[in-house]
Amino acid sequence: MNSYDFFAKRFLSQPSKLFLGSHSGERYTYADVERETARYANFLTGLGLQRGDRVAVQVEKSPQAIFIYLACLRAGLCYLPLNSAYQQSEIGYFLNDARPGVAICSPASQGLFARLCGEARVPHLFTLDDSGLGSFTEASVNAGPQFATVISESDDLAVIIYTSGTTGRSKGAMVTHGNLASNAQVLCDAWKITAQDVLIHALPIFHIHGLFVALNTILLSGGTLLFHRKFDPKAVIRDLSRATLLMGVPTFYTRLLAEPTFTRETCNSIRLFVSGSAPLLLDTFNEFRGRTGHTILERYGMSEAGMICANPLNGERRGGTVGMPLPGVKLRIAGDAGEPAPRGDRGVIEIKGPNVFSGYWRMPDKTKEEFTDDGFFKTGDIGVVDRDGYVAIFGRAKDLIISGGFNVYPKEIELVIDALDGVAESAVIGLSHPDFGEAVTAVIVRSHEGLMLDPGEVIAHVRSQLANFKVPKQVYFVDALPRNTMGKVQKNLLRDQFAIKK
Ligand code: AMP
Repeated sequence: MNSYDFFAKRFLSQPSKLFLGSHSGERYTYADVERETARYANFLTGLGLQRGDRVAVQVEKSPQAIFIYLACLRAGLCYLPLNSAYQQSEIGYFLNDARPGVAICSPASQGLFARLCGEARVPHLFTLDDSGLGSFTEASVNAGPQFATVISESDDLAVIIYTSGTTGRSKGAMVTHGNLASNAQVLCDAWKITAQDVLIHALPIFHIHGLFVALNTILLSGGTLLFHRKFDPKAVIRDLSRATLLMGVPTFYTRLLAEPTFTRETCNSIRLFVSGSAPLLLDTFNEFRGRTGHTILERYGMSEAGMICANPLNGERRGGTVGMPLPGVKLRIAGDAGEPAPRGDRGVIEIKGPNVFSGYWRMPDKTKEEFTDDGFFKTGDIGVVDRDGYVAIFGRAKDLIISGGFNVYPKEIELVIDALDGVAESAVIGLSHPDFGEAVTAVIVRSHEGLMLDPGEVIAHVRSQLANFKVPKQVYFVDALPRNTMGKVQKNLLRDQFAIKK
């Protein structure tokens, strides 16, 4: 079934219910969703776009951008969101690779897009700004308010998400209607999301967290979004008393905790805080619980597979873990040679289920490489499953350090360093080294109490707890770790920065 229809068959039973409200006075009911998405779907298909044709969108967050996403689902077109931070060479690559039939950009990048669309032979270019104005909304104003949603098969292409690609070429993960529908259903069931829920939506909508996890669950349950164009901790705190749910990346939670006005009382009406997209530090998890009485529910997912694991709604939410595989997801850990690893051993997480994407856009060989012969997707994340079935992530396989022939998992060392007084957080990387192949290197952010901390203390502390080959050869201090918009530490930047100093 078309995923829009899957959502709409529930939310259309309450057309006057508020779907989205914002502080700028925007208010859209579910009847508005149906009408606006119909107009956009009519407009896009009226341009001659056929099923499966791509619609590339690099715009600031607005309700209209959400309607374009949903209109693409309705019309069987493929929505292609682009991170608003992408620059010329990245945009040029995506347009050439995806060959969209339509591109929609911010007015400020119209000149750049016009040139790149010319080079990539994209026939139609429109603009849309964050208040919903631009040539796209102007041109579609007279399109018809009714549209018969196309019938889709569950493996029909719905969205292409380009992976963050910290190394190598960014790959377009092909996400299907079935992926979207099944993952939304599983999450609504797991987190008991209902029409009574009000979710503060402060995430970007070019990424699966804000686009799929937050939006699709609210659409499926018929709940309401409190729409924030960006994450401003003070604005979120002001809205908490009107909301029941917050979904965020770990930096949302550290920034909320940095606000003295963020207290237990301000969280009275919230029933669930969810974190994901990057690891939540145990310190943040504990401090959050101490301050608010709420235990953050950490979950794990990726563009290629939507949500994979989550801590339980009822039952123990274990800090430092991402919980258990969601219903329908088969998860196993592969050893170095791809064989199943015994329980408790670390290895690459492999998964199978209705959440797993259909492959990388125009990369059949890469797709084949990333699946096992029995159909499991190799996530590239290193994980371990404990006795109770909780999964912990130890970073990406490509971040694995091989020092003197030994495998070193950065996360293990980061956990030890983070536990040292005076450390706010750390990132452990491997730098090429003539003797060891790679040298374990720690990059540390000191806390206020740790301004006197020196490399010798860090090294002595790690040496007291871990095998010698895991002890950092070098320790550097920085003011902050570089992070991308989803809160992921950009270890590639650290490797570049400190490789020079070697
Ligand atoms: P993306 O496709 O941009 O969503 O990135 C997916 C990657 O983010 C995963 O493969 C993990 O490496 C990482 N990730 C997502 N959620 C978590 C989490 N809760 N803990 C640790 N890593 C995570």
